[in-house]
Amino acid sequence: MAVSRKSSGMPPRSLPSVSLVPSPGKDGWRLEHSYAQLPALLHTAVEPTPVAMPRLVVWNRPLAESLGLDAIALAGEEGAAIFSGNRLPPGAAPLAQAYAGHQYGHFTTLGDGRAILLGEQITPRGERFDLQLKGAGPTPYSRRGDGRAALGPMLREYIISEAMHALGIPTTRSLAVTATGQPVYRQSALPGAVLTRVAASHLRVGTFQWAAAKGDAAALRALVDYTLRRHFPDRADAENPAHTLLTAVMESQAALLARWMFVGFVHGVMNTDNMALSGETIDYGPCAFMDAYDPATVFSSIDAHGRYAYGNQPGIAQWNLARLAETLLPLLHAEEAPAIALATEALDGFVKHYQRHWLADMRRKLGLFTEEADDALLIEGLLASMQKTKADFTNTFAGLTPVPESHAAVPGDEEFARWHERWQARLGRQPQTPGESSQLRHAHNPAVIPRNHLVEAALAAAEQNDLSVMERLLAVLADPYDHTRHDLAYRLPAPDGSAGYRTFCGT
Ligand code: AMP
Ligand code: MG
Repeated sequence: MAVSRKSSGMPPRSLPSVSLVPSPGKDGWRLEHSYAQLPALLHTAVEPTPVAMPRLVVWNRPLAESLGLDAIALAGEEGAAIFSGNRLPPGAAPLAQAYAGHQYGHFTTLGDGRAILLGEQITPRGERFDLQLKGAGPTPYSRRGDGRAALGPMLREYIISEAMHALGIPTTRSLAVTATGQPVYRQSALPGAVLTRVAASHLRVGTFQWAAAKGDAAALRALVDYTLRRHFPDRADAENPAHTLLTAVMESQAALLARWMFVGFVHGVMNTDNMALSGETIDYGPCAFMDAYDPATVFSSIDAHGRYAYGNQPGIAQWNLARLAETLLPLLHAEEAPAIALATEALDGFVKHYQRHWLADMRRKLGLFTEEADDALLIEGLLASMQKTKADFTNTFAGLTPVPESHAAVPGDEEFARWHERWQARLGRQPQTPGESSQLRHAHNPAVIPRNHLVEAALAAAEQNDLSVMERLLAVLADPYDHTRHDLAYRLPAPDGSAGYRTFCGT
């Protein structure tokens, strides 16, 4: 299909200028609705379904404040009513977004089956964030689902997304978890809850796949322009917007994937509908952190073939970007061959960008300021020795900088000892002092991650109405690079390892 931008006949779209931030309403609400102005096939207005007995279980005060919301006024009954979907905040215009996606490689049409966007909150600094209620009742995209969510998985998303944020990894965030006072029926009856998710946007690879599947070139063009303006505003006036968008998304995904790999994060369900164009980590379902280093690590109970294993993640990200590129072909160039050439060139850039980020991150983890040709070999040597001895990923890197309080230990075998000598020699060839190198390592090797057994213990206690275990865990995870403070109990892997640990999709 020959499509050129000029023939679209669409008025130029732009987001309302954020220099004209509207003054906040009651409790700091300033909701706008730029997404709702996109073509109608991309969304459907729908209201949350009220719940029986809303009660705030967790409330993220610092995040509320950074959004410009009144964290005290919303901490009680008012917040419970709003964040359960029982009462709309001032200026809300709730909708569900349409999208499609490749799930485990198979194309399906989806959409927000249990999530409802309230609007975009404009912060006091003029930033724009989606506020979405996850588990707020059925939508036209619910298919056979009930539109609801259980308390455990929503608390799990809260814990892990906030931990990712504290680790410095781009992610959607969690503002609140509200218990509904109603059961949801899965294998058994579970307490229901609604999570309030805060995201740079919910634009996904799958959003573009939906517009492409509908054959709607005008909607695709509008999406390209909208995504550029919202996430890459300094590239919004590009000559070839589709190519610019593809390149920008490719670059931010390459950076994101390197960050995941660098803390041992396994997303678990990297379907194309779960890849955000903002470059944020999104959709915390069966994700988990790796303990023993092994690229084949998989936690998800339904990922039988290890499609989304730790070591496969960069390749899957590139596969997902290829699906994005396919949707953009008609916009990349009027003729197919040059369109494919442009898409291929952008996708090839992914490997280059990813490797550059990976090497830079790994150098920092080893305390290297300078670059030597053999650095990649040095890093691979460490990983190979860790894999053989099933060394704990987090504690091995943390243990490279022993501090008396830390207890992080490096492996005791001979191969590791030989590697350690090579590494020490390498450190000796850079001008920086050992102290500077230690500081660099401390800033890039977390002391604590959300260990699977600790997350499970917090959730088990919360389901028995004891929130103290989770609150202590959240406090520890908020400061992951402090190597001297945290109790050993938060730093050790489960006594029997995590080989049998299984996660389930967060329904
Ligand atoms: P996920 O695996 O969480 O990314 O979800 C995949 C799709 O299933 C999305 O379109 C969700 O909105 C939908 N979905 C998941 N759980 C439910 C539910 N309980 N009710 C309706 N739709 C759901
Ligand atoms: Mg999803």
